[in-house]
Amino acid sequence: MKIFGIIGNPVEHSLSPVMHNSAFKYLNIDAVYFKFKVDLRRLKDAILGADSLGFGGLNVTVPFKEEAIKYTIPDTLAEEIGAINTIKFGRTVEGFNTDAVGAVMALKEVTDIKDSNVLILGAGGAARAVAYALSSQSKKVFIANRTFKKGFDLAKKVGGEPIKLDEIPNIIKSVDIVINTTTVGLNEDRSLLYHKDLHKDMVVFDLVYSPVKTRLLREAEIAGAKTLNGIKMLLYQGAASFEVWTGIKAPLDLMEEAIYHEIS
Ligand code: NAP
Repeated sequence: MKIFGIIGNPVEHSLSPVMHNSAFKYLNIDAVYFKFKVDLRRLKDAILGADSLGFGGLNVTVPFKEEAIKYTIPDTLAEEIGAINTIKFGRTVEGFNTDAVGAVMALKEVTDIKDSNVLILGAGGAARAVAYALSSQSKKVFIANRTFKKGFDLAKKVGGEPIKLDEIPNIIKSVDIVINTTTVGLNEDRSLLYHKDLHKDMVVFDLVYSPVKTRLLREAEIAGAKTLNGIKMLLYQGAASFEVWTGIKAPLDLMEEAIYHEIS
């Protein structure tokens, strides 16, 4: 039996195990997927340990996506993004990023990205993938991060515009899509933006999916904006990881059903 899992801290909220275990079972693949909470100082030990124990692969979540790339041989996309969310163990330890494709697929289902001005909140591991993908597909990308220097560096890298969090009111009227890639709202009733900061002619996408309807999304509804929760991205990035590990097309409908069954 092959072991797969997700490493992060916190990781308790992750819905990846139900999604992948349902797919393994449906396809009769002899594998199991667990969540592993990793000590913040022991990421390298966790990855090398999983490799030496013969694991099939890992997903990587908050706060390790950027650091984890150091312990893998990344493919071209992951290297360009500078963060990974998927590791495949074999003769070598390979790193991949499926967050970028997951975010774009989810967003394209609800809006047209091409002519949009996008505001990305955050500059961590998930933000790197989102900023990389959207900077080439949208009209303009603004990046606002608590630690301004990190947002500045990411904006420069992808050809976007860095702004301070308190400068958001100056540009918000021109923004068509707001994407929260921070951990704000994860298992808490907090948001970086409230309804007065938003407007009805925008899409508000929150990567955080625990709770499914975050405070940001509730504020967006009050403002009359269209909302997108993090579940579709979870599904699409998960399906892409599954395909990296198994080489088999992921059973998307079944995986989505497993997620919603777990949530309910
Ligand atoms: P990360 O690398 O640790 O980045 C965290 C980001 O949040 C940084 O930009 C950080 O800003 C910001 N932040 C943290 N606390 C903050 C606060 N109190 N105020 C303002 N900003 C704050 O995490 P990540 O891996 O990118 O993940 C971020 C979130 O996205 C997680 O909740 C994760 O579950 C979610 N996610 C969801 C999916 C999906 O499929 N739906 C995929 C990927 C990620 P600083 O730079 O200032 O520290």
